[in-house]
Amino acid sequence: MITKLLSDGSRVYGALGYDMDEGTYLLFNTGAVILAAGGYTALYDRHSSRDDENTGDGPALAYEAGATLADIEFVQFHPTGMVGDRYGEDWDGRLVTEAVRGEGGRLFNAEGERFMEEYSPDQMELDARDVVARAIESEIEAGRGTENGGVYLDISHRDRAFIKERLPRMYERFDSLGVDMSTEPVEVAPTSHYGMGGVVTDETGKTDVAGLYAIGETMAGVHGANRLGGNSLVETVVFGKVAGEAVADRVDGPGELPAPLGTDLAERHLAGLDAMAGADGSLTPEDALAELRMILETHAGIRRHETELREGLDELADLRERAGDLAVGDRTSQSFEFAVDLGFAFTVAEALLRGALERTESRGAHYRRDYTDRDPDWRRNIQYLRTADGEMRTDTATPGEPSPAIQDAVDADHELDYHQLE
Ligand SMILES: Cc1cc2nc3c(=O)[nH]c(=O)nc-3n(C[C@H](O)[C@H](O)[C@H](O)COP(=O)(O)OP(=O)(O)OC[C@H]3O[C@@H](n4cnc5c(N)ncnc54)[C@H](O)[C@@H]3O)c2cc1C
Repeated sequence: MITKLLSDGSRVYGALGYDMDEGTYLLFNTGAVILAAGGYTALYDRHSSRDDENTGDGPALAYEAGATLADIEFVQFHPTGMVGDRYGEDWDGRLVTEAVRGEGGRLFNAEGERFMEEYSPDQMELDARDVVARAIESEIEAGRGTENGGVYLDISHRDRAFIKERLPRMYERFDSLGVDMSTEPVEVAPTSHYGMGGVVTDETGKTDVAGLYAIGETMAGVHGANRLGGNSLVETVVFGKVAGEAVADRVDGPGELPAPLGTDLAERHLAGLDAMAGADGSLTPEDALAELRMILETHAGIRRHETELREGLDELADLRERAGDLAVGDRTSQSFEFAVDLGFAFTVAEALLRGALERTESRGAHYRRDYTDRDPDWRRNIQYLRTADGEMRTDTATPGEPSPAIQDAVDADHELDYHQLE
């Protein structure tokens, strides 16, 4: 697990970390680093990935190394995650594939109303993720959700053979939980699924720190304010190739290899990890992460508001102070891993709350109940930078213009009327 990039703020010299099985420290002295450490959606209580991934490592490692982050406030919530109170906590937030709606699945509230008729009479259940997620949350908030805190997704009008053929994995999963999708609805609620924000890069994945590249969900800017289903896997393949080629060119180039690493930074960082291993404090990293997740879930969810975002920032600051007194296991324990994750999580959660507060409009996946319209003046990226004294500073930047090929595709006004990928 990588815990720190070796950087003087303008150039990266490698990375530090530890072997999670052995507990030994690792030091990589390299000419370039490509960060591909995923996103930050598991910083919400309900999320679609595992608990130990997408905790913000990628963006936070880059930020601490001197790189600029952007768009962290844009978080995509998938409309249909499984409901923990109905299927067990282990399943909470796990995806019910969009294909269930693609194959004709209908959403109903607890009063039996097909509520998408009100929110999106033309597109109904197949409207964009943010529209459907907001509709579900509005129904639940209005008291029309199920007693388990979800709504119903019903495909029981299709026969069993059809469901088993078209949605085999979904059928099997619910069948194993004692639910027959061909005779009864399943319970779903939105779940945090993809972070559009991340590290600012150029079109080769290069950041503003020499030698540092970021790709995949760690990078910002590829999906604007709202990713379309399926585009993330494409992104990982495309930028893996592009950044790989850029780095290969760079390390082969004359005079480009960085100078050897000084040891001070590494020694200081490893001493910090030493002090954390076995620390005998009062708060476990697991509990601290759970609290942080609840802060974002409650204060920076699907439909945001200034008052709640400010409360979220206050609660985060309070938690950060208490997290100075952690109770941590040894370096091979999961609690040590979570303690490292917690450090990354604080950085990204702060950026998210600050950006969501600053963006006084609704755009893409970012929705403000107190600013429900898109504001043309806000056609800007919020950027997050680390000051010399370690504080977070925000700035804004004008987004670039699309290339002619992309603009042509936008002008063609394609309609997305069937969802198969997440
Ligand atoms: C359930 C689910 C279904 C999805 N379905 C689709 C789909 O159908 N189509 C689509 O386009 N997208 C889909 N997505 C989104 C897509 O899968 C992700 O955006 C994509 O996998 C991101 O790839 P990545 O390589 O950037 O990061 P990841 O796949 O998250 O990989 C990051 C890797 O870095 C490692 N890592 C993290 N931190 C550290 C650290 N500190 N040190 C060392 N290693 C670290 C992690 O262990 C992981 O192996 C889905 C996501 C989920 C959760």
